[in-house]
Amino acid sequence: MVKRLDQKSAVVTGATKGLGRSIASVFASAGASVLVVGRDEQGGTGTVNAIKEAGGRASFFKADVSCRQDLEAMAKAAEDAHGGIDILCSNAGIFPSARVEQMSEQEWDTVHSVNLKGTFFAVQACLPYMKKRNAGRIVLTSSITGPMTGYPGWAHYGASKAGMLGFMRTVAIELAKDNITVNAVLPGNIMTEGLDDVGEQYLERMKQCIPMARLGDPEDVGYAALFLASGEAKYITGQTIVVDGGQTLPESIDAVS
Ligand code: NAP
Repeated sequence: MVKRLDQKSAVVTGATKGLGRSIASVFASAGASVLVVGRDEQGGTGTVNAIKEAGGRASFFKADVSCRQDLEAMAKAAEDAHGGIDILCSNAGIFPSARVEQMSEQEWDTVHSVNLKGTFFAVQACLPYMKKRNAGRIVLTSSITGPMTGYPGWAHYGASKAGMLGFMRTVAIELAKDNITVNAVLPGNIMTEGLDDVGEQYLERMKQCIPMARLGDPEDVGYAALFLASGEAKYITGQTIVVDGGQTLPESIDAVS
């Protein structure tokens, strides 16, 4: 049976755990060979092993997305290990909390270096390999936070995630003639290791605001990314898919109670 990403080579940043691990696994189960990217070697090996145990193909490349040289080496590694790059999912991200009154310049810069500049570096590094094939799919992991909603403590994070969409819309136009699409998934609250520290109260209250009354599973984002990475989405560019269980719909808490 032909799978949706058969013969495709994918690069997924931030795939050592969380959403990226799930996106990498979903891509691999759809037939892609996947370069799993991140800083944590143990986590990366864990993702690779899980993919291989399920019958897929993957390898790990250690990189910090805020370092341009790392990402240039990453793109080269994808060509060496998997024969090129058809799909990039720029997913690596951080979401430390800091209220604007106390936020340091360093805290602002670190979030932007990873979330926004890391996306720019990843896209720029992979482009020559996509252009060689005259085709490509770029999927960004943005968020509802920033583009659609706000949350105290995440002004820098929201700005970076909204910035990713501004970046996406122009790059989508620039690359359209090269047959390279650029789209984004906007997760709501998805149960990953990244939410380990937010506390029970946050999770409980968040559930109360979600019409589906639960946080999302990482695969929910993985399958949205899979669609945007597939041939089925070949005429879609510069667009977003919100994956939030309806969280951004209610006008007030009464609408969900
Ligand atoms: P997570 O569990 O904390 O995983 C974050 C991933 O990003 C890890 O693989 C981490 O790998 C990688 N990463 C962080 N800094 C990096 C750096 N400098 N260089 C390379 N990789 C780096 O978080 P998550 O929940 O899966 O979030 C993944 C993405 O989804 C983020 O962009 C986040 O903003 C977005 N998102 C998540 C949610 C949610 O509810 N979970 C909602 C909306 C958007 P290493 O530590 O190995 O480097």
